[in-house]
Amino acid sequence: MSALKQYDALIIGAGYAGAVCARRLAEDGDKTVLVLERRPHVGGNAYDCLNRDGVLIHQYGPHIFHTNDRRVFDYLSRFTQWRRYQHKVIANLPRDNPEVVPARKKTDGRMFFPVPFNLDSMKSAFGAEEGARLGQKLLDAYPAQSQVTILELRQNPDPEIAAIADYVYEHVFVHYTMKQWGQTPEEIDPATTARVPVRLNEDGRYFLDAYQGMPLDGYTPMFERMLDHPNITVEAGVDALGRLELADGVVKLDGKAFNGPVIYTGQADELFGSRFGPLPYRTLDFGLETLNTDFFQAMGTVNYTVDQDYTRITEFKHLTGQELPGITTIMKEYSRAYTGAEGEIPYYAIINPENNALYAKYKAEADKYPNLRLLGRLAEYKYYNMDAIAAKALALTDELLSRV
Ligand code: FAD
Ligand code: UDP
Repeated sequence: MSALKQYDALIIGAGYAGAVCARRLAEDGDKTVLVLERRPHVGGNAYDCLNRDGVLIHQYGPHIFHTNDRRVFDYLSRFTQWRRYQHKVIANLPRDNPEVVPARKKTDGRMFFPVPFNLDSMKSAFGAEEGARLGQKLLDAYPAQSQVTILELRQNPDPEIAAIADYVYEHVFVHYTMKQWGQTPEEIDPATTARVPVRLNEDGRYFLDAYQGMPLDGYTPMFERMLDHPNITVEAGVDALGRLELADGVVKLDGKAFNGPVIYTGQADELFGSRFGPLPYRTLDFGLETLNTDFFQAMGTVNYTVDQDYTRITEFKHLTGQELPGITTIMKEYSRAYTGAEGEIPYYAIINPENNALYAKYKAEADKYPNLRLLGRLAEYKYYNMDAIAAKALALTDELLSRV
C-alpha cells in the first residue's frame, strides 16, 4: 500500500526522535509522513506494556521522564497527562564490618544509602557524627557548588577529602561502572559518571529537573496519541533497511528516488552496511521476575554498587503507581558487550575518541545525501536522555518547517 502512495517525508524509527518529528511534520507542516519501525510496536526503548501478570513494565529498561526544557514538557503534555513522580535510588552493598551491626538490626550484613551520594549518605557511611563533620568539610571545600563529580573529588589534595573520595569511588562507582561498561570510571567518558554526582546537600532525588514524572497511562499510549494523525502512516514490524537504497547522493525507497526529508533514527553503521566497521555498544539482558507480594523493595530502583552481577533492580509499581495488591514485577539489568547477534539491542554507545572518529566516518557518508538526517541516540551515537532527543526532534523539525 505504502509503495503506491507518495509521501512527503520518510522517518525510520518510532521512538522519541521519530515520533516527535512525524507529528510535527504532519501537523505543523501538513506533510504526509511514512514511519517505518522495525519492532512490532511504537515507542522505541521507552515502550511499556502489561506483562502476563497484568503488571505495567518497561520492556527495554526503566524510563523516568525528567527535563528542564519547558518546550519539550509542554509538547509531550499534549499527548499525555503526568503522574507526579520523583525517582529515588538507594545503594545496597555489603557492610564493611558486618560484625559491628547490632544483632537486632536485621540488615543481613548489608548497608544502604541514597544515590547520588549526598550528605545523608555520608552519615550512613561514616556514622552520624563523623558523617556530619566530613559533610561540613566538603561544604567548606566547595562553597560555591551544590555538587561535585567523583573524578573532580578524587583530584582534591586534602587527605580527609581524598579519603571520602576513595570511599565513594569504591562503594558507589568503581564496581558498578565495571559492571555497566567493563571499564573503570577513569577509562569511560567523564560525562557518564558526571550524570550521578556527589551531592553537597541532603536532596535524595535522582534527578533535580523542574519537570519530572511518568506518563499517566504509560509511555506507549503517549506515543500512540502522538502518531495518531491523518497525515501519518506507521508501518511497524518493518525493517527499513530492506526497503532503502543509498547510492550516489540519492535515497531510494522501494526502488524509487525519495526526495523529501528522510529522518533516520537507527544505527548509523547499519545504514551503510558497517562499511567502516561496526560501532561498539553495550547491550543489556533483563531479568524479569514476578513475585507474590505487594512490594519487593522500598524504592523504584536499588543499585547494587559493589556486588552481584546485575547493576540495579527496578520495581515498576513504584514508578507507575499501578495499584495491584499481592503481585509485583522487578527487573534486574545485566550489561555486556553488544555483538550484533540476532535480537540484541544496542542500548549504550561507548563514547571515546576512537569510536567518535569511527562514527564521524558514517556521519560524513550520511552528509552526502542532502535530504537525509541522522537523529537520535543511535543515529547520533550519543548518550541522550528522552527529553534531549525530543528537544533535538523539535529543533530539526523547526529547521525543516522553516524551509517551506
Ligand atoms: P530509540 O528509542 O532507540 O528508537 C529508535 C527506533 O528506531 C527503535 O524503535 C528501533 O527499533 C527503530 N529502528 C532502528 N533501525 C531501524 C530500521 N532499520 N528500520 C526500522 N526501524 C528501525 N532516558 C530518560 O530520559 N530517562 C530514563 O530513565 C531513561 N532510562 C533509560 C534506561 C535504559 C536501560 C536505556 C537503554 C535508555 C534509557 N533512557 C532514559 C534513554 C532513552 O531510552 C532514549 O533517550 C530514547 O529512547 C531515545 O529515543 P530515540 O528515538 O533516539 O531511540
Ligand atoms: N554510576 C555508578 N554507580 C551508581 C550509579 C551510576 O557508578 O550507583 C555510574 C555508572 O558509570 C553509570 C553512570 O554513572 O553508567 C550513569 O548512571 P545513570 O544512572 O545515569 O545510567 P543509566 O540510567 O543511563 O543507565
